Amino acid sequence: MLKISRPNISEQDIREVVRVIESGDLVQGQVCAQFEADLSRYLGDVERGDPHVALVSSGTAALHLALLALSVQRDDYVLVPNFTFPATINAIHLVGALPIVVDVCPRRYVITPDIFTQAVNSIIEVHGRPPRALLLVHEFGCPVDMVSILKIADRHGIYVIEDAACALGAADHGYKVGAIGHIGCFSFHPRKTLTTGEGGLVSTMNADLIERVRKLRNHGMALEGGGIEFKEPGFNYRMTNFQAALGLRQLASLDSWIERRRYLANKYCELISSSPCAELISLPEIIDGHSWQTFMVVVPTRRSSDLIVSLKTMGIECNIGAQVLTSIQYVRNNEDHYVLKSADPVQSRMMQGHTLALPLCEQYSDDDLKRVVEALEFVLASGT
Ligand SMILES: *Cc1c(COP(=O)(O)O)cnc(C)c1O
Repeated sequence: MLKISRPNISEQDIREVVRVIESGDLVQGQVCAQFEADLSRYLGDVERGDPHVALVSSGTAALHLALLALSVQRDDYVLVPNFTFPATINAIHLVGALPIVVDVCPRRYVITPDIFTQAVNSIIEVHGRPPRALLLVHEFGCPVDMVSILKIADRHGIYVIEDAACALGAADHGYKVGAIGHIGCFSFHPRKTLTTGEGGLVSTMNADLIERVRKLRNHGMALEGGGIEFKEPGFNYRMTNFQAALGLRQLASLDSWIERRRYLANKYCELISSSPCAELISLPEIIDGHSWQTFMVVVPTRRSSDLIVSLKTMGIECNIGAQVLTSIQYVRNNEDHYVLKSADPVQSRMMQGHTLALPLCEQYSDDDLKRVVEALEFVLASGT
């Protein structure tokens, strides 16, 4: 079976993890501090400096703490794109805020400045105030146009939170995503390009925000007067040292992996464009700075569930990529709460049931991709 993706873990990575386990120093400590230092340098640049970062136990924990650190709370409206992993909208609920679902553009699957402007205007019109925050998603590593988004947000005093869960290493205008908005969140789940098993990161240029995140990830505890003090109720959202050991090793290879993924994404586009089924498939747009955590196409005339089953019988593992939020149960059953009539997410609704993420990771060869495209041609020609 050609898996949708495979974690990239070498013998030497495993030895390094074992070495840290054998040291007995298991929970958040020196190795986490080193991983944080390397990640901060990786996300920063000479012009703006390096962001403050805090490792956490998952991408979802990162989203939860980012919202809490910004004091997004009960009755605040938060905009969220209609195409993402549900953890994005769940986190908004978990702080008691009110998510409003907005559209994404075709072929990039992310929010655009135009969609954002229209949604802000609709919220002001309907609710008499702008949303408190935009929780945007760099879906599959596709960088959102952050410069324009931030200009609009600043005009209305809206926080911009980046869900860069699947976008470590992606860049907009040369700046690493997740370190451009007010606060950014990453995941190191095995489906992401860099993995620590479970794991996540919060990133921000604001020292006060990161201090709050560090406190909340560790039971609300802070060092004070040579001792510890519990400043407010918090969570245990820490990462372990042996996970950080794996992450440190992976980070050293990340850029070369992303380069390879860019090559393979281009290769997919070439192979599909020149295949007999080209007209049936809408390809993702190849744009600068995309990190290609996932390569997803849209097949408007076929059901993805059927395609996934047929491709599986041919030894190819595919999935739907991400969820259209207006199709998940709790959103679907209460659409009036989540969708503004004047900003209906039409484009993303049309993707529902037609998205197909194809196998992609840096270990795959040109021949692996040819095999996928041939199988797809066969399945589409046979009219499944
Ligand atoms: C993976 C992912 C998450 C969740 O990350 P976890 O580490 O699994 O909690 C959130 N948002 C997006 C866009 C993701 O792709």
